[in-house]
Amino acid sequence: MDSDQTISQDKVVSLNYILSLDNGEEIDRTTTDEPLVYLHGHENILPALEAKLDGLKVGEKVTATIEAAEAYGDYDEEGLHVIERSLFPEDLELEIGMLLHLKDDNSEELEAFVHAIDQEEITLDTNHPLAGETLTFKVEIVDIRPATAVEIEHGHAHLLEDADHD
Ligand code: ZN
Repeated sequence: MDSDQTISQDKVVSLNYILSLDNGEEIDRTTTDEPLVYLHGHENILPALEAKLDGLKVGEKVTATIEAAEAYGDYDEEGLHVIERSLFPEDLELEIGMLLHLKDDNSEELEAFVHAIDQEEITLDTNHPLAGETLTFKVEIVDIRPATAVEIEHGHAHLLEDADHD
C-alpha cells in the first residue's frame, strides 16, 4: 500500500461505508473484510459521491451527504402506474417491493417496483427505491492504487479473481 496516493482519476479505491437515510435509518454497510472497490472517475459509484472523495488519502474519513437530486433522483408521482391484475400472468406471485422488468407500449424496456397490490389492480412504481432520499455515506478510505491499463480500458476495477475476464 502506497500511503502517498490520493484519490484522483483512474485510481482504484477501496473503502468502507455506512449508508443511512435522512431519518437515521441505516440501509447498507460494507464489512472490513469486504470493502467496496471501485475505479475512480468512471461513474462506477454516484458521481456526487466521487466528487466528495476526490483528493482523500488512505485512512481518511469523511461524511458525505448527497441530496436526492444528486443521488437517485427526486420522487416523481408520475412514476406510479395502476395496472389491471388480469394483465399479469396468473402464476406470478406478486409481492410489494418486487422488481419487475417490463416493456411499455413502445416496446421500451423498463424496470418497476410493485408498490401496492389489491384484488383488481396492481400499482407499479418506476422510481428508484431510493428516489427522494437524501443519502449520508460515512466513508473510510482503506486503500488506493493506480489502475492498470486494462482496468482503465474496461472502466471498472478488477479484483484478483476476475483479472482476466473479457
Ligand atoms: Zn473488466
